[in-house]
Amino acid sequence: MKNDQIAAVFEQLSDLLEIQEANPFRIRAYRSAGRTIGSTAESFASLVEEDADLTQFSGIGKDLAKQIVEVVMTGQHAQLAELKEQIPPGVVDMLRIRGVGPKKVAVFYNKLNLQSLDQLKAAAQAGELSALKGFGKKTEQSILDNIDLAAEAGKRISIAEARTAAEAIVEDLRQLKSVTQTAVAGSCRRRRETCGDLDVLATSSDATAAMDRLAEHSLVDSVLQRGDTKQRVRLKSGVELDLRVVADSSYGASMQYFTGSKEHNVVVRQRAKDLGLKVNEYGVFQGDEQIAGATEEDVYAALNLPWIPPELRENRREFELAAAGDMPRLVEVSDVKGDLHMHTTASDGAASILEMAEAAKSRGLKYIAITDHSKRVSMANGLDAARLRTHWDDIRAAREQIDGIELLCGIECDILEDASMDLDDDVLAEADWVVAVLHYGLQQPRAQIMKRLLAAIQNPNVNIIGHPTGRLVDKREGADINMTEMLKAAADHGVMMEINAHFKRLDLDDVHAAAARDLGIPIVISTDAHSVNGFDVLQYGVDQGRRAGLTKEDVANTKTWSQFKKLLER
Ligand SMILES: [Zn+2]
Ligand SMILES: [Zn+2]
Repeated sequence: MKNDQIAAVFEQLSDLLEIQEANPFRIRAYRSAGRTIGSTAESFASLVEEDADLTQFSGIGKDLAKQIVEVVMTGQHAQLAELKEQIPPGVVDMLRIRGVGPKKVAVFYNKLNLQSLDQLKAAAQAGELSALKGFGKKTEQSILDNIDLAAEAGKRISIAEARTAAEAIVEDLRQLKSVTQTAVAGSCRRRRETCGDLDVLATSSDATAAMDRLAEHSLVDSVLQRGDTKQRVRLKSGVELDLRVVADSSYGASMQYFTGSKEHNVVVRQRAKDLGLKVNEYGVFQGDEQIAGATEEDVYAALNLPWIPPELRENRREFELAAAGDMPRLVEVSDVKGDLHMHTTASDGAASILEMAEAAKSRGLKYIAITDHSKRVSMANGLDAARLRTHWDDIRAAREQIDGIELLCGIECDILEDASMDLDDDVLAEADWVVAVLHYGLQQPRAQIMKRLLAAIQNPNVNIIGHPTGRLVDKREGADINMTEMLKAAADHGVMMEINAHFKRLDLDDVHAAAARDLGIPIVISTDAHSVNGFDVLQYGVDQGRRAGLTKEDVANTKTWSQFKKLLER
């Protein structure tokens, strides 16, 4: 279980308790526990396994520690389950309306007994909300404006979709002569795995022209709100995008502010306060005087901080690294020299060995491993020993037809449900590169999953564990893995770990990739390309590596071929 998921349990718990108008101290305690868990790099699931003392974390007392253990061990929280029984789901849906928090929902539910979005809408239309104490016509109208969107709100898009849309819009705005600077901010700039909304900033002498241009963009479905310098639109994908036109003197401060994360900016604001300064979206201020704001570098410098890469702005380690003067130079797409996971027509890929090699070479890669599926994946036409050996002969033959790129005879070999490998050791021993993976039986109990992973790691023919958890972002939970134990075994046996770059996988995730790096495990960022265009996803894997704080040195496939070759000698 990931920290985000554990954090979400406590956040939901605080929301539901607030709707029930429970003790505010308890609500606050749960909320702060959620924040602590969500922003801690160490995996709480692993800490629980190790029986570690959770009260070492700020805001987590004995009682909360017990509840965290319960959540990790059972995947459930008894009190939350009870609250969900008591409070109708339609009431919880009201939280999705923009500008409506648990306090307002509590009033709708407890005072008017409204139990669904439809009932709330009818009450708003009848003017019943503005008749409530503490509510006005404005709130009522805002609810009416936003309630229809609430059904779809909470929709998140993949980082690939987010980047593609936001970057296209930025490119389009750049075409305007009046626009001097424009860029993507928000969670998309931090390269989160998914984005719930998008933020774009621009500086321009003509805000109207910029907003008009955005309104006409082919990705835009409708304009939801428009002010003098800010416009909110809804994209056809369902997510909302905010464009803010800001002054040049505030551009850096706005980028900093709207890039977030919230948790990062809490620390930034506190730091300003400690220095007798104030920081907001307009700049850094000493009294009434603006002392920084035009660039992000200036904003951080005014707070005695180095510029912090957006991917690290999660209030995890970035302030420690800054204090130590240790801000890493994060890995970049252009650092990558090899790709060690891809498929061809021999299994479920769309291109031949030579086509994949040519495409990789044209992207500047110097070495690749062809890793088609093993036989267990029959749906993907997986290879048995005889077909694999013929396939490897084909790879060797292809070497003669292309220069300037090394081709490795590889295999993506399933670790079967009984912990044996899908191909015999004598076959695997002939490979240049073996990616061991879990595809089936992901739901097995943790003990069996660990037996499988450890067996693979101890197999001397295995080079790397591919997409280690098997999760699909926002779609499928990964296998129940004792991450600490797996990574320690991998470190002991010289087995590498993959960041699968496909935006639907991004596996390992940022937190676990950082943990692997901390143990000195070489990390390989692989595309798992199934076609020549499949190499395009590399950037998302690199983004994930950057969120993990990885440098070029941490990523094995940034090495030259002759350096990398040495890593293969286990
Ligand atoms: Zn796979
Ligand atoms: Zn694969």
